[in-house]
Amino acid sequence: MDLQLELLPYHYYNTLGFDAELIDYIDHVDDSSVLKKTAPLYKKGGRPPIDPRVCFRMHYLYFTRPEISSFRELVRQLREPKNQAWRNLIGAPNLDKVPSHSCLSNFRSKVNTELFYAILFDLIAQALQLKDFLSPMLTGIDSRPVWANVNGYKHKRCSCPDQNTCECVKTFSDPDATIGVQRTRANQNKFFIGYRKHSIICPSPKGPIVLFSIILPNDTANVKVMLPLVELMTQIDGLKVDYLVADLGYFDADDQKEALL
Ligand SMILES: [Zn+2]
Repeated sequence: MDLQLELLPYHYYNTLGFDAELIDYIDHVDDSSVLKKTAPLYKKGGRPPIDPRVCFRMHYLYFTRPEISSFRELVRQLREPKNQAWRNLIGAPNLDKVPSHSCLSNFRSKVNTELFYAILFDLIAQALQLKDFLSPMLTGIDSRPVWANVNGYKHKRCSCPDQNTCECVKTFSDPDATIGVQRTRANQNKFFIGYRKHSIICPSPKGPIVLFSIILPNDTANVKVMLPLVELMTQIDGLKVDYLVADLGYFDADDQKEALL
């Protein structure tokens, strides 16, 4: 049962598009809004069994570490003595205070995608207030491939008695992954299985930093990406972008007008 809970949402997590770069400032902002935003999810008067901030930060690690492929593995690594920095990051410095993987599954089943973004955007809004840190006046859109963890070729995953004759479609183990084309440095096309991650990149004194990303199927045309990104940007308090730079692939006569408005 636990295993099911862990495996099912994995590709779904993938689509949230959390960025490793955020780890640079998650420690400098106040994430007590996680408590406020998640409070209605717990029974009236009932206290969450684990501090939701710890759970959120554990998810954060999970999203941004491609080598960790399950909650179980995340918890195992967090309990390794050498990973003190990670335990500090999640706010559970003591080995025996690291929550179990079922606590994480429980948290995940309560907190939906919109709420995760709301929490993330609150953290970004605070980071925007930090002195000499983010300067989003001139911001860009960039995209890169994300390889899915698909474990081999497509096959049928139904439970029909005879898979040779049934009409079910063959899929990858990650049902949302599709085949995409990546242009290599030698300007040749290379195929890969996964998604494409579209990021809002913002200058900072130490170089460009990812503000946030969305991950979409490979076959999503870039022109369909700009508006959703702009809409998400409008949800971040205090984010004022004067110029948004994107390559021509993102531009579409109609969408562009709407995005400008
Ligand atoms: Zn079938």
